[in-house]
Amino acid sequence: MKVKNILGPDNNEYPKGFRSWTEYWVKNKHKIQLVINCPACNTTTRQEKVETAHVLKVDSKDKKEYIIPLCEACAHRESIFTVDENLLLSIV
Ligand SMILES: [Zn+2]
Repeated sequence: MKVKNILGPDNNEYPKGFRSWTEYWVKNKHKIQLVINCPACNTTTRQEKVETAHVLKVDSKDKKEYIIPLCEACAHRESIFTVDENLLLSIV
């Protein structure tokens, strides 16, 4: 699945009971081990260095906002990249 980052102000309105988007992602995708290799560039990334990026699907009718933990570099890249769709968590 090709996605791109939603650049701009950080969305810090976390769901009730969560202190970060990473915590929310881990809770909802708990079957998937965090961390890991970055899902976008495969760089091995320590958990405390992971940033949970907000992304949109590219070339899809689905315009929902998703979150996915990435390495610091991928969380800020402006180009389109490919990730496993199963790792995308909708927050809308
Ligand atoms: Zn990466």
